[in-house]
Amino acid sequence: MKVDYKVVIVGAGVVGLGVARALAENNITSVLIIEKEKGFGRGISSRNSEVIHSGVYYPKDSLKAMYCRMGREKLYPFCQEYDVWHNQCGKLIVAQEGQELLLDELFQKAQINEVPHIRMLNQKELGLMAPEVSAHSALFLGCTGILSAHELMSAFLRISAEADHDLLIGATVVGGEQKGDLYQLSVLNQGEGIYTVVTTWVVNAAGLNSDIIAGLLWRKDKIEVPQLKYSKGSYFKLSSKWRNKFQHLIYPIPDKEHDSLGIHLSFDKGGDVKLGPGAEWLAGREEDYSVRVEDQELFYNDVKAYLPDLQYDDLSPDFSGIRPKLMMDSKEPSDFYIHHEEEKGFHGWINLIGIDSPGLTAAIAIGDDVARWIAEG
Ligand SMILES: Cc1cc2nc3c(=O)[nH]c(=O)nc-3n(C[C@H](O)[C@H](O)[C@H](O)COP(=O)(O)OP(=O)(O)OC[C@H]3O[C@@H](n4cnc5c(N)ncnc54)[C@H](O)[C@@H]3O)c2cc1C
Repeated sequence: MKVDYKVVIVGAGVVGLGVARALAENNITSVLIIEKEKGFGRGISSRNSEVIHSGVYYPKDSLKAMYCRMGREKLYPFCQEYDVWHNQCGKLIVAQEGQELLLDELFQKAQINEVPHIRMLNQKELGLMAPEVSAHSALFLGCTGILSAHELMSAFLRISAEADHDLLIGATVVGGEQKGDLYQLSVLNQGEGIYTVVTTWVVNAAGLNSDIIAGLLWRKDKIEVPQLKYSKGSYFKLSSKWRNKFQHLIYPIPDKEHDSLGIHLSFDKGGDVKLGPGAEWLAGREEDYSVRVEDQELFYNDVKAYLPDLQYDDLSPDFSGIRPKLMMDSKEPSDFYIHHEEEKGFHGWINLIGIDSPGLTAAIAIGDDVARWIAEG
């Protein structure tokens, strides 16, 4: 059987492109990236907060904690070197009266997770750093930042293209079979019908469809597939009167019930301010990106708690994204599933499933590990 490519990556989001970048840096050039949309990065990677996370929230031994820390440490120098817009602005997690213990817990977690540049602030110190914000106390995380996700993905893609990788857009992977040491993927290319691609390695970086891609192989062998649950996060933007008012990102105490960080305040390259994301479990697998006007009241009430001068009419609906949550155990927070499936009998098949937040922060570190597994064969 003729091998078309050494590696096929399914999905051209920040994770798939992060893998391509790392393969290029390991001089692996026979690579095809397959993307179902008509361009790269149109999935989760362009519908998020664009925050470079500190790693404060995650359980110590989780993959999220590990890849967030490693990813952040690699991301700042990468952005600097490849001219990706970023701003290490730091963030404030603010506690209201009665939430002091929860803030203390986060401070301890930050120490356990070895988050650098952390500091507890009393009301007066908070007032000096963020005069618009009202809270009892705050935790400052100086290593948090923001970046342009689009510029990051463009930089990954440039490195991949310079290594002669191929990118096939408007093509959907619809089938997969193991053929001895190889994999044969069926690809539906709009206008051209179905054809097959033969490869030694498959990297499943299909975001919201990553469990379905894993299931292409596993269902046949009746192996249980990790199931994703979708959690929608909507954003509202603030009117121009709030532009450039903030130096730091502002977060409330996290919302454990929805496994989310709570409705926070962030800003972009132009200083425009957005609030979100909310968190709402979706019943099915429909990718519904509409933002409900009715949610304005909920956003207003949540944020007014720490931004007293906020007016209801300052808010208007913006955009939404969907988190692919992997709930292995309903009592635990979700984690990433990052596996070379050798032990299940699928040498050469790597699954990256449930890469929700902090996937953008972690992309370089995930890519480096995947490329190392492939280079070591
Ligand atoms: C609301 C929200 C806020 C977030 N905020 C942050 C944040 O501030 N900081 C942070 O670090 N992370 C954040 N994240 C997480 C981060 O955005 C994701 O972890 C990351 O973008 C996931 O990238 P991906 O490449 O896995 O997925 P995607 O970007 O979705 O890429 C997967 C690609 O696979 C393609 N695909 C799917 N099925 C197929 C198929 N069968 N054939 C071919 N192609 C296919 C899709 O079209 C898509 O382009 C947030 C996520 C959400 C939803």
